[in-house]
Amino acid sequence: MGGELNGKVGLVVGVANKRSIAWGIAQAWHQAGATLAFTYQGERVKENVKQLAAGIGQDNLLLPCDVTKDEELDQVFKEVEQQYGKLDILLHAIAFAPKDALEGEFVDTTREAFNVAHDVSAYSLVALTQRAAPLMKDGGSVVAMTYYGSEKVVPHYNVMGVAKASLEASARYLAYDLGPKKIRVNCISAGPVNTLAARGISGFSNMLKHYESQAPLKRNVTSDELGATATFLASDGAAAITGQTIYVDSGYQIMGM
Ligand code: NAP
Repeated sequence: MGGELNGKVGLVVGVANKRSIAWGIAQAWHQAGATLAFTYQGERVKENVKQLAAGIGQDNLLLPCDVTKDEELDQVFKEVEQQYGKLDILLHAIAFAPKDALEGEFVDTTREAFNVAHDVSAYSLVALTQRAAPLMKDGGSVVAMTYYGSEKVVPHYNVMGVAKASLEASARYLAYDLGPKKIRVNCISAGPVNTLAARGISGFSNMLKHYESQAPLKRNVTSDELGATATFLASDGAAAITGQTIYVDSGYQIMGM
């Protein structure tokens, strides 16, 4: 174990299966010494998350949480407080937009698709952080996953790009509000990773090939690398870093053409 997160309690939101970015980060946080609680959305993935969590050999707290339901959010933090008495680190690794909205053109986005994408993918960071903050009694670190489609047009990413822009801006405003309490809020902007959510984006396999050919490092990122960055951001080594979007994308973001 690295030990950078020894004694810290973390809440991981966004594990669906072993390919989930949240699972890569949870393993890294566990190896660094953190005690982890997990949420899952609905019975469909409960067993998956339960088995994965058991595999890292802890008696992890496992709680249902659909981030669009305030009562489930309240219950999660109530149980974290009862079990651990505090929270130090929080991972937000969730996003959703209806499939139709990730296919054709952005101009056709419906009000409903716009609202649901923003509610699940962006407001959820505010909803989670406002409940986490009172438990972060000695300060804390919130890490949220984002993507470059927030700032540049990535065909088919559509409304999710707009929701990620909102997520990143929300992280900055949260960082400002919570800075005096030593609570830091940062985003990791990941290059494409082959997960369930990613496969919902039309043309996703071309994105992987495009990064391989165009990024300075000429390869895609691994979930271990995302885990290492998230561990750094969660650790006291990043104590003066807040409100930032950190690119873990093989350098793709620096390219002009
Ligand atoms: P993933 O494994 O499919 O994870 C997405 C998670 O969001 C799932 O656990 C999903 O749960 C959860 N979720 C969706 N709606 C929810 C709701 N209403 N309440 C609670 N949870 C909900 O895909 P992933 O790629 O690891 O995505 C994790 C994060 O990384 C997302 O924010 C994504 O935008 C970001 N990201 C991904 C990539 C990539 O290329 N994969 C790149 C950059 C950033 P269910 O499956 O049960 O619905």
